[in-house]
Amino acid sequence: MSDLPVPLPAVLPPTDVHTDLERRILDAVRRGASMEDIAGLKNADVQTPEAAIQALKDGNARFFSGQGGNPDVGANQRRAQIMRQTPYAAILACSDSRVPVELVFDQGLGQLFVIRVAGNVVGESGLGTLEYAIKHLDIQLIMVLGHEGCGAVAAALLPPEVVAQEPEHLRKLIEKIQPCVSNMPPIRDKKARMREAVLNNVRYQADMLRHTPYIAASEQSGRIRVIGAFYEIGSGAVDFLTEEEDLRV
Ligand SMILES: [Zn+2]
Repeated sequence: MSDLPVPLPAVLPPTDVHTDLERRILDAVRRGASMEDIAGLKNADVQTPEAAIQALKDGNARFFSGQGGNPDVGANQRRAQIMRQTPYAAILACSDSRVPVELVFDQGLGQLFVIRVAGNVVGESGLGTLEYAIKHLDIQLIMVLGHEGCGAVAAALLPPEVVAQEPEHLRKLIEKIQPCVSNMPPIRDKKARMREAVLNNVRYQADMLRHTPYIAASEQSGRIRVIGAFYEIGSGAVDFLTEEEDLRV
């Protein structure tokens, strides 16, 4: 009796193969690679901070042009990540329901390490989370992502007597944004003023990250980069703040 071909594990019918990465994962499954080896495949995609920025730019271009919505969320991708995660970027974003980070950058499972808190403010837990991402997940990039029409930033522009009526911890959160919007030049156009305030907050929070010893040392060694970004809800496009002058507080 001749040898029968070994049947493929029933994890991914051919119609589910969307991307080069899924194809490589499927090949690895066929070869009988271990879960650990399969998980390692992900890292080959993005190895430097510049490649991470490009991957996010490409993903956002797919999103805002209507070509997104096809990330790796299949059964194979899930199973390949059982043993470990290998995200390439950490993103500090707002909790706003209109800013779903993975969708905005058209990224699949295991690619982004996301912290979401109103106003994308830096706090103790967020810093610990980012230090973990650098030290133990070997991420290439940290992005602070602000967005059009941010309610937390708008609150920071309100008179003190109005903010005083908010509950205790919300007041404390707003106070983390106020220093960077308190001395803004007068801008008559309301939308332009809000955009400037959000950008100020992105630069301010990014600056705080960049002055945290462990993050600063990681950036100085070239291991990671810290950048900012602004998401425009209307267009779906993200503006990237990658140069020193873009990030200057
Ligand atoms: Zn917001």
